[in-house]
Amino acid sequence: MKFISTRGGEAVSGAQAILSGIAPDGGLYVPEFFPTIDAACLREMGNLSYPERAAKIFSLFLDDFEISELEYWAEQAYAKFDGDPAPLTKVDDTTYILELWHGPTLAFKDMALTVLPYLLRGSKEVCEEGKQTLILVATSGDTGMAALAGFADVPGTEIVVLYPSEGVSHLQKLQMQTAQGDNVHVFAIEGNFDDAQTAVKEFFNDKEAAEKLHDRGYSLSSANSINWGRLQPQIAYYISAYVDLLHAGEIEEQEEINFVVPTGNFGNVLAAYYAKKMGLPIGKLIVASNKNNVLSDFFDTAEYNINRPFYKTISPSMDILISSNFERLLFEILDKDAELVKKMMEDLNSQGYYSLDFESLEKIPTFSGYYSTEEETFDSIANFFEIYGYLIDPHTAVGIACLYKYLALSDFDTKNIVVSTASPYKFTQDVYKSLTGKNEPDAFKAVAKLSALTATTAPDEIIGLKDKIILHNQVLERQDIKKSILELFGCTL
Ligand SMILES: *Cc1c(COP(=O)(O)O)cnc(C)c1O
Repeated sequence: MKFISTRGGEAVSGAQAILSGIAPDGGLYVPEFFPTIDAACLREMGNLSYPERAAKIFSLFLDDFEISELEYWAEQAYAKFDGDPAPLTKVDDTTYILELWHGPTLAFKDMALTVLPYLLRGSKEVCEEGKQTLILVATSGDTGMAALAGFADVPGTEIVVLYPSEGVSHLQKLQMQTAQGDNVHVFAIEGNFDDAQTAVKEFFNDKEAAEKLHDRGYSLSSANSINWGRLQPQIAYYISAYVDLLHAGEIEEQEEINFVVPTGNFGNVLAAYYAKKMGLPIGKLIVASNKNNVLSDFFDTAEYNINRPFYKTISPSMDILISSNFERLLFEILDKDAELVKKMMEDLNSQGYYSLDFESLEKIPTFSGYYSTEEETFDSIANFFEIYGYLIDPHTAVGIACLYKYLALSDFDTKNIVVSTASPYKFTQDVYKSLTGKNEPDAFKAVAKLSALTATTAPDEIIGLKDKIILHNQVLERQDIKKSILELFGCTL
């Protein structure tokens, strides 16, 4: 199968799409068409392991690789998880939680970023790319650490992560500051996630920087969800969750279910939409935003408008105004009209705004957008623990709060799966505050207190941070980003 850019240009192979990360015209790669999975296929998957299911789905998109290769990669990647990579828990008759944070860095980003290094190395081989791959990542907290863990000491790669200096949780920051590996580079930047993401996109479009790196033997790629290699592994867990419900007799064949997805850059929920396009019986996709509610406004008004304050919230991985992957949805809404997508993106860039007509919204009835205020997120953590004895992190809590807003306006029969995107211990201090109303300024004391209070076990990854040495503490001004990255690789401006 070929991949095309949302802004036009030539179709490329899957391997090439993964290797480049972003299309030369600044657009994002999308599959030319969506392969289908039918009822029989879903039934058969019931007897497969998670890595086998994932590899099967990868093979529908990527014809550059043997299925045996894909299976081996998926097995290697998901062996890094603590047990089942995507366990489902039933909390009441119609509500299930899909925990996607049992990977090495405790957030759902591991679902894709443990696989991406294998896909990338395989793609280099297929494309006979002999250069070192420089992977440039902007992170709102979780992608950075998952990418650092995934690519640390992977031969032929260098990884550079940019995170907003004051825009991540204390423990997220510690994870990145202590990241090990000879090929690992981490910078905090002055600014928010959108600034980091814009800097990365500008770097990708910077011919001068590309040439200088090229001369030194490097080519650029991305581990952000702009890379197809990130989205594809995310499609797998939606299909797998459905298969699990079917296999357990919780749903009938062809029964539609809803997913509630805590959303920032729109990668996670877009993967769910792609699963639906492949034929997975999905009713609604509930796009859950925090106080940075650009998306829920879009689904109400058909206007995408970032001319508004940027809020720092207790769900920092969703503190985003410019959701990159929205461009891929726009491509669908606009009937694959690349010129029009390009124009919208130019409008967004120059005016911080674009608008569609209401008919466009009617083309995507699957989506409903809701948002949760900070107070609602705090309450949601406390109430969910009180009612179900189940501890959730602030991002998942945004999802739960939005589910209840949705249910207040709809029928109760459809089953809902809430995607749980991070371990509560990654955001211990705010979770502890939700439950007790108290601030605990010492993150590790908060970990011990939360563990005692809730009779849950803190992950080793978190406890171990206490003894790690800080290796990366440089903070960059925005105007120095390009120069600092180039200098790492012996290039001067
Ligand atoms: C990245 C992230 C999100 C948002 O996912 P997108 O794919 O960017 O929409 C939500 N929750 C957590 C914990 C995350 O790390």
